[in-house]
Amino acid sequence: MNIHEYQGKQVLKQYGVAVPEGNVAFTVEEAVEAAKALGGKAVVKAQIHAGGRGKAGGVKLARSLDEVKQYAEQLLGMTLVTHQTGPEGKVVKRLLVEQLSDIKKEYYIGLVVDRKTQRVVMMASEEGGTEIEEVAANTPEKIFREVIDPAAGLLPFQARKLAYAINIPNELVNKAVKFMTALYRAFVDKDCSIAEINPLVVTGDGNVLALDAKLNFDSNALYRHSDILELRDLDEEDAKEIEASKFGLSYIALEGNIGCMVNGAGLAMATMDTIKYFGGQPANFLDVGGGATTEKVTEAFKIILSDPNVKGILVNIFGGIMKCDVIANGVVEAAKQVGLDRPLVVRLEGTNVDLGKKILNESGLNIVAAESLADAAKRIVELVK
Ligand code: GDP
Ligand code: MN
Repeated sequence: MNIHEYQGKQVLKQYGVAVPEGNVAFTVEEAVEAAKALGGKAVVKAQIHAGGRGKAGGVKLARSLDEVKQYAEQLLGMTLVTHQTGPEGKVVKRLLVEQLSDIKKEYYIGLVVDRKTQRVVMMASEEGGTEIEEVAANTPEKIFREVIDPAAGLLPFQARKLAYAINIPNELVNKAVKFMTALYRAFVDKDCSIAEINPLVVTGDGNVLALDAKLNFDSNALYRHSDILELRDLDEEDAKEIEASKFGLSYIALEGNIGCMVNGAGLAMATMDTIKYFGGQPANFLDVGGGATTEKVTEAFKIILSDPNVKGILVNIFGGIMKCDVIANGVVEAAKQVGLDRPLVVRLEGTNVDLGKKILNESGLNIVAAESLADAAKRIVELVK
């Protein structure tokens, strides 16, 4: 789960991570009020669940209350398109009004869970403000890493090593170490999957601050972080994904045009791979789960069909716990209920598969019963062409 920058900074502050003073504003009036409390000057930042705001005009430096007002009016309600939002962009509904920082230099600090070492890794770079992916591609030697032993935590010598490697001024190394240690504590304590501070800045008055904060949380651990769950902003999430989660469906929207309905995450991945193999593009990942009922299948159809990009649907179900005839009946029933208006290819395998195919073929609906996964993928790719 993702949260906004201002929320991330509030969480980090609880752990002693230094962040600039500031406040969230939902209206122009609130933005002006927040700037007054900061002495009239402020940076006004669009709050959306995406980075790249600076380059896209979502971060404004205001030198007076008039400018704060002007920028707040301009940003609130606008659709901000950054390289991370996709071409449709995101509507700005909240602003962070923050004290201006006198930036001497920008750095990068990130924490991720590294699958290879199965450890949390802290990354640091002198190339702050730029995207870390770019730094990794062009100048990988400028990214330094420390693998953290979970039993010991981030040790002071590791933090110092990083601070020296990225050329934090000598007199501020201790502050940087304190910053990194606090960031690591927040990361572990809140079950983060990513914590990215880009930029971390050194200021003219000798402070080490998080100027930006991106926190991602492991959704599987949210049950033990009700405070974090409260920060969820449904406006920022895909409406189809929210709907799916209500029905216990694992759904992730993608960019293609072939809707997929599959039982089991592994089979869903294999289905997407096979579609791609035959030249198609999946419109979503969707796992209806082991005991897919007619209701679940119907909801899944509705969600898939609500995506205007979907030109056809591929259903791939293995009748293990459930029998294929039950699934076929569910698919037919659901297709009738939602008024299916696009081609549907169904591949069934498992118990009572012949009976299942018979039900599909005799349904009177425009359903193709495929022979295999490859056959199913080929057919749906052709049908959406
Ligand atoms: P992002 O582009 O979405 O990652 O947004 P950031 O919060 O990282 O802001 C982008 C850039 O705006 C930073 O790299 C800074 O250069 C600049 N910026 C943000 N806050 C301030 C500030 O208080 N003072 C100055 N001078 N620049 C700022
Ligand atoms: Mn940033």
